[in-house]
Amino acid sequence: MRKAMEPAYEMHFTCRKCLHRSSHHITKQAYHHGTTLVTCPGCKNRHLISDHLRIFSDKSITIEDILREKGEFLKKGRLGEDGDIEFYDDPKGEAKEG
Ligand SMILES: [Zn+2]
Repeated sequence: MRKAMEPAYEMHFTCRKCLHRSSHHITKQAYHHGTTLVTCPGCKNRHLISDHLRIFSDKSITIEDILREKGEFLKKGRLGEDGDIEFYDDPKGEAKEG
């Protein structure tokens, strides 16, 4: 018997602080309706992915809003039924412009 899997995103995250790349399994329920944090395995820094419960923010946000507000670079891959979320927090975005 097949068990229905909870719909989820596979997220590949590159930490801006230590540049450690890690994968995280985030349910769609959590991403779109809950509050989601991922911990970087490299530096143990915690990154807010979504905050619909408004624990850390005063409004309902996702990582896409967070990065947009900071004016940071966001490279996103597929966001689909079986797709990946590819977030790459580009450290060059904070460096001085050439
Ligand atoms: Zn890190």
